[in-house]
Amino acid sequence: MYDVVIIGSGPAGYVAAIRASQLGLKTACIEKSFDASGKAQLGGTCLNVGCIPSKALLDSSHRYSDALNHFSDHGIEISPPKLDIAKMMARKDQIVSQLTSGVTGLFKANKVTPIFGSAKVLSSSQVEVSLDGKTEIIETKNIVIASGSSPINIPVAPIDQQNIVDSTGALEFLAVPKRLGIIGAGVIGLELGSVWARLGSEVTILEAMDDFLPMADQQISKDVLREFNKQGLNINLGCKVTLATPSAKNVKVSFDTKEGSSELTVDKLIVAVGRKPNTENLLGEDSGLLLDERGFIPVNDFCETSVKNIWAVGDVVRGPMLAHKASEEGIMVVERIAGKHAEMHYDLVPSVIYTHPEVAWVGKNEAELTEAGVEFQTGSFPFAASGRALTSGESRGFVKVIADKKTDTILGVHAFGPSAADIVQQGVVAMEFGASAEDLGLTIFSHPTVSEALHEAAMAVNGQAIHIGNRKK
Ligand code: FAD
Ligand code: AMP
Repeated sequence: MYDVVIIGSGPAGYVAAIRASQLGLKTACIEKSFDASGKAQLGGTCLNVGCIPSKALLDSSHRYSDALNHFSDHGIEISPPKLDIAKMMARKDQIVSQLTSGVTGLFKANKVTPIFGSAKVLSSSQVEVSLDGKTEIIETKNIVIASGSSPINIPVAPIDQQNIVDSTGALEFLAVPKRLGIIGAGVIGLELGSVWARLGSEVTILEAMDDFLPMADQQISKDVLREFNKQGLNINLGCKVTLATPSAKNVKVSFDTKEGSSELTVDKLIVAVGRKPNTENLLGEDSGLLLDERGFIPVNDFCETSVKNIWAVGDVVRGPMLAHKASEEGIMVVERIAGKHAEMHYDLVPSVIYTHPEVAWVGKNEAELTEAGVEFQTGSFPFAASGRALTSGESRGFVKVIADKKTDTILGVHAFGPSAADIVQQGVVAMEFGASAEDLGLTIFSHPTVSEALHEAAMAVNGQAIHIGNRKK
């Protein structure tokens, strides 16, 4: 009898398993994924086909594009760099393999029992595991469902992983497609589009909605749209794809706009229209659990399901589909199982788009605060006025701090520019401790760093930034 059985070994599941074991709970983690060679695949979407391989390719492609376009700005003249895509892919695969084996090592070190096979929840104390036609029933006091998510397929553009691919296929191209179409201008579409545009593809992104990045600060969305179009992402809003027809060599994409129907021919098409929860065949008839209308497992703020001792965390439940949100939920749940007081601060889950420059934010944006009737004031600082950003040739974008008008408590931090993710992370720490804009202004920031833009933006909230003209009347 286990204390906890965790279904799924992604960032929600494996992190929960390790913490559960640290807390003295007898823990097993079930994973159903195997790689092409038949080796069990720990780490979930994030390590195998998500965060990590995409960041490896974003980094490699950024270096290539820097060498091609920007070395000469620094007085470094080189003959045009040559792309070895097979080596770039092998480097990515090696990083994935290092990290996934790392999870195996961590399980061993922490005495987590890995179980390989497909799990089904039979009741709050029984999980059935099937592998190669054999089934086994595992008894447990608690179940944590961390079965994650998969790419959404749309019938108008059926995935064949050859010409029409999902995000997984888009991390595996063996040659740079000359013309690349992408359906969806969400985070994944923008990141994958950036990779292939930097490596030489002519990218066209088709997005059904008229708004671009509606969840971000609107001033940032506007700047980002302009910048990404300059980078060759060719983002077309208000274009709903109605059919994609693959042929031996290319894909014909039909789409509707306000003006009428149009067509585009590309060599490869990436479908990046979002992800759906992995809940198919997961629940036995007597599990007592019901799914919501979109297939998610309903949970409360503590990730408790409607059945006592069954919990659900990560992409399979509501909220942003992000690895760090998944891991924190996993930790919260096993701590609660161990009798500790633990909670999630959902308001403080940061979001990042790992393009270049990065886009990142935490907390509320101006539109959300206005809608909620909260009075606020903002301070912004452009990277064009940051000495360090100029030395790196990275002066696009700005940092914005939003604070409560009366109390000065920081309500949101938004950034577009160099190291935006790390800058916003400093905002997360400040907000976690309930800091005011004045507190951040009184904090010493190393000079010269791009983080000084956060310092100045915080000071700008009260008209006290030093390096821009912002004096309050
Ligand atoms: P998953 O990582 O999906 O893991 C679930 C695991 O459960 C899988 O291994 C699956 O095989 C297993 N499983 C499912 N059903 C069963 C079953 N019945 N029995 C046994 N095992 C089962 N997020 C970020 O925060 N930062 C990023 O930079 C980022 N980049 C991304 C890039 C891409 C291209 C993609 C696709 C996603 C990215 N994400 C990123 C999102 C991130 O990968 C997910 O939010 C995260 O992996 C969710 O973790 P999870 O543990 O809930 O689920
Ligand atoms: P995300 O959920 O953030 O990954 O974004 C997916 C994006 O794909 C959303 O902005 C959707 O509007 C967009 N999308 C979904 N279906 C279509 C379609 N048929 N044509 C164009 N865009 C689409």
